[in-house]
Amino acid sequence: MTDNLITLTIDGKSVQAAPGTTILAAAAALDIHIPTICYHSATTANAVCRMCVVEVQGARVLVPACASGVTQGMAVSTDTPRVRRARRTVLELLASTVDLSEAPEIQAMLAEYGADPARFPEAERRDPPVLDDNPMYLRDYAKCVLCWRCVQVCAEDAQYTFAINFSGRGFETQIGTFASLPMPATTCVFCGQCVGVCPSGALKPKRAWLYEQGLRPAEITQSLRTRKKHKAAQAEPGGAV
Ligand code: SF4
Repeated sequence: MTDNLITLTIDGKSVQAAPGTTILAAAAALDIHIPTICYHSATTANAVCRMCVVEVQGARVLVPACASGVTQGMAVSTDTPRVRRARRTVLELLASTVDLSEAPEIQAMLAEYGADPARFPEAERRDPPVLDDNPMYLRDYAKCVLCWRCVQVCAEDAQYTFAINFSGRGFETQIGTFASLPMPATTCVFCGQCVGVCPSGALKPKRAWLYEQGLRPAEITQSLRTRKKHKAAQAEPGGAV
């Protein structure tokens, strides 16, 4: 078994790992922390955010540790000035366009990397309206960092309901439903897994949101009941619009 192990160094420390192990996992085995945003242990690594980039000796570009496998003799550096500059820029770009007020882990990264959110003062902020179209959760895509986790757990990584996906292009890219249908009109089964993996507060349980608005538990229950009745009335033929 050990004959098949791959030997590499990470930040000068030697480690052995099975073929197929990612740099991220090999580093974790050495207690070397590599920061991530889009990565989640329950989802397929997709290297979307580029926060986990590291330097590999001999490689022309930085490589994402979450999606790059170890190779024999590889020499990885996880905290060089080049790596820190790349991560800082990722954070500054995010902070210049996205509301990170409910993303404490990303805020901690901003502090750790000395990221200046004002570095791109002319950047346009993403500010779509909050979507409140179902009794279970709200979608505030002004806070969305496009990590893709919600789409992944809605699809092959967990639920196989495929209710959401990317929509739009470039700056307009956002998570959406087919034809922008309201969530109850999609295949969504309100399992809550998307809310559970969202790192930025973009997806929030309706009860938590109502609580933040100052409602007490009994008022929250009443509010949800009223909304449910209203929606049922809307759904009836000739119901209110
Ligand atoms: S809504 Fe949340 S989980 Fe989905 S892509 Fe945006 S930040 Fe990620």
